[in-house]
Amino acid sequence: MSETSTAPRVSDEGTRQRYSLMELARRIPNAIELGRGDPDLATPAHIVEAAKAAIDRGVEEISDPAGLPALRLAIAEKLRHENGVPVDGAAGVVVTTGGQEALFLLMQTVLRPGDEILVPDPRYTSYDVAIKMAGGVLVTVPTQEYDGFDVHAEEVACRITSRTRAILLVTPGNPTAGTISPDNIRAIATVARQHDLLVISDEIYEKFLYDGAEHLSIGSLPEMAGRTITLNGFSKTYAMTGWRVGYAAGPRRLMSALRRRKALCSICAPVVSQWAALAALQGPQDAVAEFHRIYARRRALVLERLDRMGFSYGAPRGAFYIFTNTSSTGMNSIDLSLKLLEEAHVLIFPGTGFGEQWVDYVRITLLQPDQVLAEAMTRIEQCLQGTLQFDQAEGGR
Ligand code: PMP
Repeated sequence: MSETSTAPRVSDEGTRQRYSLMELARRIPNAIELGRGDPDLATPAHIVEAAKAAIDRGVEEISDPAGLPALRLAIAEKLRHENGVPVDGAAGVVVTTGGQEALFLLMQTVLRPGDEILVPDPRYTSYDVAIKMAGGVLVTVPTQEYDGFDVHAEEVACRITSRTRAILLVTPGNPTAGTISPDNIRAIATVARQHDLLVISDEIYEKFLYDGAEHLSIGSLPEMAGRTITLNGFSKTYAMTGWRVGYAAGPRRLMSALRRRKALCSICAPVVSQWAALAALQGPQDAVAEFHRIYARRRALVLERLDRMGFSYGAPRGAFYIFTNTSSTGMNSIDLSLKLLEEAHVLIFPGTGFGEQWVDYVRITLLQPDQVLAEAMTRIEQCLQGTLQFDQAEGGR
């Protein structure tokens, strides 16, 4: 038997679709890209300065595989104070090369072959690959547009089997920008306790909330710290995607298993970036508030234009995405994304990039300056004018 036939299949249709559209967009000179989820804003100057100072001091030496002790302590402190998550000092944190590496190594740490993990759908499909590579089985938990893609404890509970090992939560979410309400977080925590499950809580978008949405870290709830791994990073909050720093925090036993995998995989996160991350946590936070203001303004602009075109969407109460229902165009989201790229020169991702069933949705990002976003919306409106008029004549669908 060939080696490939026994290895877990790790192909990811969602990622493939997203990357092939980005490839196509690169060949269109005036394309406006509302695809990737990486902030377009500049990393705050004091963070850049801290990195320069680290370079001048010398960054030849590696850090502990789990990260610089000072950074781990600062992360533990942040989680305790801002999130109410009790963390066992530096021993409760592993710094990784982006949140992405944390989620891949985490799946290998917590899942044994055949273990099931519940993941709300639509989803960031890197989870699929991370789970498959660990030999785990992804079980989707449905969410709906009408309540902003919130996650309900009953939908989680009814999918638990004897093989279920963990629940993955992401709030605010990607691609939906939905948030899980504090009441639902509490109810899901009860389910996790009752069934003795681990929770992986991806909180990478926690700082970007709108319309009064509240963020509740599940690890802060009673008897949850011992079964929760909080995943976060610096890419979104501080516009530091290229610096590649993320982290996982949780029970000491799991963190030491994660640390071993981190050491084998990439020794440690880049040391210069770790010093920058420390400055991000310890320095002024005004830039984060400013980023929030910018995203909120862009969000209002795009929502106004989507409303005018008659598109619905799940209430985007966080992050910097709008998961837009485009069924009124009569096109599936792959055809629609291709049409918008080829004719309007605007790149958006089809909903199917986040789970095959999401043919009626596209994900629009807010990661362009106001005037570029406005231009993109005008192009989309003009491109779809005939389609939308046709729909109106037909009474919509
Ligand atoms: N989790 C979610 C939900 C994300 O959307 C992303 C990036 N798009 C990540 C984790 C990983 O981010 P990074 O590796 O840049 O920290």
